Amino acid sequence: MRLELERKLIERWPTWFDVNGSLQQTLMPFGCEHGDGWFNLLWRLCEDLEPLVAKYEKQTGHRFQVVQVKEKFGGLRFYVANANDVIRQRIELAELESLKSCELCGKPGRRRIDGWINVLCDEMPTEEQHLAQRRRNECPQLRRSGTKPGDSGSAQTASVNRADAI
Ligand SMILES: [Zn+2]
Repeated sequence: MRLELERKLIERWPTWFDVNGSLQQTLMPFGCEHGDGWFNLLWRLCEDLEPLVAKYEKQTGHRFQVVQVKEKFGGLRFYVANANDVIRQRIELAELESLKSCELCGKPGRRRIDGWINVLCDEMPTEEQHLAQRRRNECPQLRRSGTKPGDSGSAQTASVNRADAI
C-alpha cells in the first residue's frame, strides 16, 4: 500500500502500528503489504476496533499491537498481538470482507486464480492485464475515474464518473 495511505493509519492510531519497531516483535516496518484498494476496509476496521481495544487495554493493562498486515491467498491478513476474542472476531469479519473487495481499487471484486490469487474487480479482464496492473499496484478503474482510494468520497466519485461514461 502507498506510504501516504499507511501514514494516515499510523497518525490516527500511533500506538498500534510500530513501524520503527524491532523485526523480532513486529513486521510493521515492512508496511501494509497489499494493494491500495483495501485502505477503506482497514480504516473502518480500525475505527470499529477502537472502543474494543480501549476496553481491552483498560481491563488487562496490555498494549494492543498490530504486528503484520498483508495479502495472503487473495485475502487480507491483519495479525495482532495482545487482543481478545471480540477484537479477533471483528478482524475476521474484515478479512472475509476483503475477499469481496478489489485489492487495487476497493470496488466489489471476486477471487481470481491465475498464477497469483487475487481479489480483483471486473475491470481486469485478462491475466496479462491483471499481472501488469498488479505490478503497478493500480486498477484501470482508478485511472478512468482519476481518483485514488483514500481520497475523500472516492468510491462515489468513481461510480458517478462511470455512470457518465456509460
Ligand atoms: Zn479494481
